[in-house]
Amino acid sequence: MSVLNNLSHYDQFLRNTFHADDAGLERLQAEAKQEGLPPISIGPEQGKFLQLLIQLNGATKVLEIGALGGYSGAWMARALPSEGKLISLELEEKHALFTRRQWAALGLADKTEIRVGPALDSLPGLADEAPFDLIFIDADKNNYPAYLEWALRYSKSGTVILGDNVSMGGRLADPEHQENPGIRGMRQFAEEMAANPRLVSTVVPYADGIAVGVVK
Ligand code: SAH
Ligand code: MG
Repeated sequence: MSVLNNLSHYDQFLRNTFHADDAGLERLQAEAKQEGLPPISIGPEQGKFLQLLIQLNGATKVLEIGALGGYSGAWMARALPSEGKLISLELEEKHALFTRRQWAALGLADKTEIRVGPALDSLPGLADEAPFDLIFIDADKNNYPAYLEWALRYSKSGTVILGDNVSMGGRLADPEHQENPGIRGMRQFAEEMAANPRLVSTVVPYADGIAVGVVK
């Protein structure tokens, strides 16, 4: 399901050794395909990377914007301690129903919650849950700058903020595509992640590029 389709022998070795999906995640991905969900989730390399960050900062409160079928959320929720909580915001009722079912099947129901609707409508209602320890942005790209504003508002020192798909399938910096609203949103997001004095940030080139910033 990831952008990394044609793996080299080395990439395949790394995936087999460090990042393989287990049977539960394989089933989630197979059922997502059967249901006709778009094949745009993160890959297992990024799933493991998100888990690593959750362990590193001892996260108990995680916010995700863009759940799709719950694949990235499952990786993150699994890394949380039993008292931890993942809140995921998702526009499509169909995706949310699928995700809830999958998380329950994986034994993650108690640690997870999904809120349906446009994320910009849901975000103002999360003030009581904030600050979050890690915030993963992976929804509509034109709204990434607005999501970053909310993420910064809902952060504290040590919060990790991530944005997926920085490369936009290789089109981010392509002069032919600069009028596309998604590309513009992503460029603005990347520039703000880089320039914001509250953040130390970089882009990890896994799959489609994942921006990572830590709040100072
Ligand atoms: N994080 C998921 C993939 C998310 S794909 C994973 O890696 O497994 C992007 C998701 O964002 C889609 O499910 C789409 O329905 C949702 N989305 C698009 N616009 C949105 C919006 N305005 N608010 C909330 N979710 C949105
Ligand atoms: Mg993505």
